[in-house]
Amino acid sequence: MSRTRETNEPRDPSGKTKGLTPVMQQLVRAKEQYPDAIIFFRLGDFYELFFDDAKRASEILGLTLTKRGTDEFGEPIPMAGVPHHASADYLARLLEAGEKVAICEQMADPSTVKGIVPREVVRVVSPGLCLEAESLDEKRDNPLVAVRVDGEGFAVAGYELTTGRLTVTSARSAAELVADLARLEPREVLVSEEARPVESLVRATLPRATLRLGFERSSAAAERVLLAHDERLSAETLSAPLREACVDALAYAQVSQPSVDVVLDRVERTSFDDELFLDDAAVRSLELVRTSSGEKKGSLLTLLDETRTAMGARLLRRRLLAPRAHVPTIRRRLDLVEAFVLDVAFRTKLRTLLGGCPDLERLATRVSLGVATPRDLGAIRDVLGVAADVAQLLRERRPEPTDDPLVALAEIDVVADARERLASALVEAPPPNDRQGGILREGFDPDLDALRSTSDGGKDLVLALETRERARTGIASLKVKYNRIFGYSIEITRSNLGNVPADYVRKQTIANGERYVTDELTQLEDRILHAEEHAIGLESQRFLELRSALATQTPRLRALALTIAELDVHASLAETAHQGGWCRPEVDASVGLDLRGARHPVVEKLAAAGVFVPNDVVIDGTSERLAVITGPNMAGKSTVMRQTAIAVILAQMGSFVPARSARIGCVDRLFSRVGASDDLSRGQSTFMVEMRETATILRHATSRSLVIVDEIGRGTSTYDGLAIAWAVAEHLHDAIGCRALFATHYHEICELAATRAGVGNWNVAAREHGEDVIFLHQLMP
Ligand code: ATP
Repeated sequence: MSRTRETNEPRDPSGKTKGLTPVMQQLVRAKEQYPDAIIFFRLGDFYELFFDDAKRASEILGLTLTKRGTDEFGEPIPMAGVPHHASADYLARLLEAGEKVAICEQMADPSTVKGIVPREVVRVVSPGLCLEAESLDEKRDNPLVAVRVDGEGFAVAGYELTTGRLTVTSARSAAELVADLARLEPREVLVSEEARPVESLVRATLPRATLRLGFERSSAAAERVLLAHDERLSAETLSAPLREACVDALAYAQVSQPSVDVVLDRVERTSFDDELFLDDAAVRSLELVRTSSGEKKGSLLTLLDETRTAMGARLLRRRLLAPRAHVPTIRRRLDLVEAFVLDVAFRTKLRTLLGGCPDLERLATRVSLGVATPRDLGAIRDVLGVAADVAQLLRERRPEPTDDPLVALAEIDVVADARERLASALVEAPPPNDRQGGILREGFDPDLDALRSTSDGGKDLVLALETRERARTGIASLKVKYNRIFGYSIEITRSNLGNVPADYVRKQTIANGERYVTDELTQLEDRILHAEEHAIGLESQRFLELRSALATQTPRLRALALTIAELDVHASLAETAHQGGWCRPEVDASVGLDLRGARHPVVEKLAAAGVFVPNDVVIDGTSERLAVITGPNMAGKSTVMRQTAIAVILAQMGSFVPARSARIGCVDRLFSRVGASDDLSRGQSTFMVEMRETATILRHATSRSLVIVDEIGRGTSTYDGLAIAWAVAEHLHDAIGCRALFATHYHEICELAATRAGVGNWNVAAREHGEDVIFLHQLMP
């Protein structure tokens, strides 16, 4: 909070909190620890926000601003609050606005504490570091990304708090940095002090992300993280800048979890050497994950996604945005998809089993971080049940060929020991928190059962005591009574007072007699009244023990989650292929491209049945490698070019492709410059965007690349435009020698074919019919 008058005061903590109540002093101390975060300060059933935090949050959330007490200058302190039970939604909105929130909890039950309740920041939540379902899209990753300079290039580390996955990439150029950021799509980026020069590039690539510039990393936290994970990180033989980027991300994440170590489950090194490099323009213009208007519906991913689990959906998205460029890997993936395509019965059964299977990957991390609820553990038990069924299904499958790619998967570790433990411990539907009991089954813990029966059977015990006391005293009218204020007592009428035993202690006089207690009754009262409380306390404790024990198994759980995700992805790709009548592509090391009867999957789906005209795109990459495509507006030029790029991406991610047959020489980089549009959000004109994207292509395309260029040179005058288009086509053919589809309205470019062997002229046909034009949508030489 910028309590500006404080900044010039001596840094004396006692001076800072002068004049404030002890509770407000707690708040100020929390704020000192996390100065850049909004403090959610727990007071009873509310999270209260104070000072500037209150003002800022009330603006974002539309909360009513009130006051509480006065500061050291006697001025009212602004306050705003959100109810504890509804806080997740408010939190999600603050994160959406790029804010960081520190959650300061009551560390003890206020009803049991004399004096001030201790409070501590238990978690810091920011756009890239959240665990709340309300702030996460279950179908995509939410990495926190750190960028450092690495020689001429950059070191990029993407850390996923929800799964413990750390992705490390060395980007050799600004273009690779942009491509990497575009596919990671982080909501929060750490840019180290020396990487500040790329700030504007990062902002332009990720206009919605929160940037933390030259942030200070707590060396203590960094050391701890480093030490804990050193072995794994160094085993990856990371360069110093990559290592620093990893530490940046991990240390920053560690600060958000003050009480537990963040999880580092896997370090994945990626490099554009064995991946298909997709520039951000290609991701956008091919509408891979969202349409040009920002919708998920209508994107390739939505069409492709037949996954049944959130972990599968996330893996599918990752694969689509990072297709491979390594032929054996691609073939292995295609083998798996093919196995699922061929075995319809198995695929159907598997997909039914996976339907509604909870998100084991994120649940396992919640266990490690100590935030998993009883309900979460119940969900883990349920997934483990599904996993056991899946393993059974895999074993029952008796494939004809012995080299069946699925056979290996039948050996998966389904963590049966944990499933049995959870199944014997938890009730059918455990509650969402551990403070109200009702978590554990009867028979799981004898002490708990005893406490429960004491609280349930309390009445019987009282009656038994009453009978015993009547017999002992000979007072037939003796009664044990219960009063909400005074608790249990033995009531003796006046006429019987003479027979009261010596061990009775008088408690209260009533109209017609006296009330007494005995040691036994006091103890019984204590047992009955506190049995429920004790039962809940013990249950909570047993639950925490169960969770800690499970935490030691989380690497196995995450490995299982990944296997489930892979099965789901392959089954999904097979399902899509089956539904769309797609074919298995032949991917090889050639530079050819041979697509027969290829379709654009999204345009085809939108078109009426049988209306979409399939096309052949055949270029051998040597004698013909640059196809100049002409044709009238609306003929279908963009569509045929996009579908070609999409076929390559699908094939290299390991998917079947929408074509009758496909042979694809593995592409190393794919560039797509289709559909000029102003990019006003990034402050660039149509022409500027076009030139920037073209420059990227010319600088980075290689002879193994595929380049799709649509109507270049439109953003300027005719002659300038023609000159640019001509020069680009010439350079692509002569200097780079890549495969290229080049649509243009400058028919002059067709002349290139006369002088250059590798240029072909294609036309998307239309026919005049009287006054009308009939679009045949057919690509012809
Ligand atoms: P322009 O030069 O105006 O940009 P274009 O030649 O690039 O046009 P597209 O945008 O590819 O044309 O296609 C125009 C429309 O034609 C598409 O929206 C689609 O509905 C339809 N279309 C394209 N290709 C086919 C096809 N092969 N079969 C059926 N319809 C198609």
